[in-house]
Amino acid sequence: MKKGIAVINGGSSSIKFSLYEIGENRHLEPCCHGQIEGIGVDPNFIAKAGDGKVMGKKRWKNHPDVNHRFLLSFLIEWTSENLEDLQVTAVGHRVVHGGAHYSEPVRVDERVLERLGSLAPLAPLHQPHNLAPMGAITDLAPDVPQVACFDTAFHSTHTGPERYFPLPRELTAQGVRRYGFHGLSYEYIAGRLAEYDTKAAAGRTVVLHLGNGASMCALKAGKSIASTMGFSAADGLPMGTRTGAMDPGVLLYLMQEKKMGPREIENLLYRESGLLGVSGISSDMRVLLENSSPEALEAVELFVYRIRKELGGFASVLEGLDAVVFTAGIGENAPEIRRRVCEKYLWLGLELDDKANLKNGPRISTPGSKVSAWVIPTDEEIMIARHTLDLING
Ligand code: ADP
Repeated sequence: MKKGIAVINGGSSSIKFSLYEIGENRHLEPCCHGQIEGIGVDPNFIAKAGDGKVMGKKRWKNHPDVNHRFLLSFLIEWTSENLEDLQVTAVGHRVVHGGAHYSEPVRVDERVLERLGSLAPLAPLHQPHNLAPMGAITDLAPDVPQVACFDTAFHSTHTGPERYFPLPRELTAQGVRRYGFHGLSYEYIAGRLAEYDTKAAAGRTVVLHLGNGASMCALKAGKSIASTMGFSAADGLPMGTRTGAMDPGVLLYLMQEKKMGPREIENLLYRESGLLGVSGISSDMRVLLENSSPEALEAVELFVYRIRKELGGFASVLEGLDAVVFTAGIGENAPEIRRRVCEKYLWLGLELDDKANLKNGPRISTPGSKVSAWVIPTDEEIMIARHTLDLING
């Protein structure tokens, strides 16, 4: 029987999964990936092999019994039936927040689960849903070790003022400080950068992770030194439905004058704002780029403007810039957004190659460009699988 690692990324309405076979020299070979989407509506499951061929599909009608737990037990059963020669030896989970306690992956036990649960208010859109599958797997497959891998961990290299808010020290000591997110994605990109650009790998790079969630990270010699996200995943750039950085005075105004309570404010900041809020049309960049209404144009303009503002700040923090890397759904697939970001950085020596940009790279800057620009697809799942394998093997 072959040995394998499963990776789970639990969301509010979806469970994404990947399975890897552990090969020689602990090489991880993707053998299956897929997702169950539409949980709470009409859930549907799809699984594909490493080569993209569909291995399984299923749909359920919405029913209170067809919940996360039911669907996870379906997934475990489906895996043992369809990948019968693969024995899952450990499960790795993506967890958005590790807080002050966890700066590297950790084996899941009751105490870890409790600590991670207490961080749910800092990432209400993700944390509870990242943790839910752990409890279910503990019950359904108690002998399989589980490992939590954190989006905050890669940023534990931040030092000095990048770590703090200008708040009284007691609050900082209690953990009200900047952490940074999307770390698994940045760690993957940092690990691959040398294959593309050795100067950037040893030098100053800004990585733009632009998906539904969006953030940027400044890398110095492959280490994270700054992130646009801080205490929570609502900070920094405007996103699909999240505001990004907000003037705290607005929140006071909403509470005092509009009498909004914490739940309403949470909804506003996480679910009703960003591209969706400004456009009033969609949180999906593809939809907005195809829509010529002034509202859609304004939403896209705001997104690009805020990226440019942060990029200038990061170039300053890095004391110069060798490369920019675009990744995630928008970063990898939207030449229009990359063009609009890069064209304003000619003054810094970034010269876009329009043809290469339209083809999604990988190199999208001209050969003579002082600052190079790249499109590198991210792979958070393989990072989780590697960490999980490393941890269970000590
Ligand atoms: P998540 O944060 O949910 O993992 P993704 O990384 O999948 O998000 O990114 C989703 C975003 O990528 C959506 O806004 C989607 O519209 C955008 N996207 C995907 N493909 C394209 C494309 N071809 N052009 C523009 N935007 C795209």
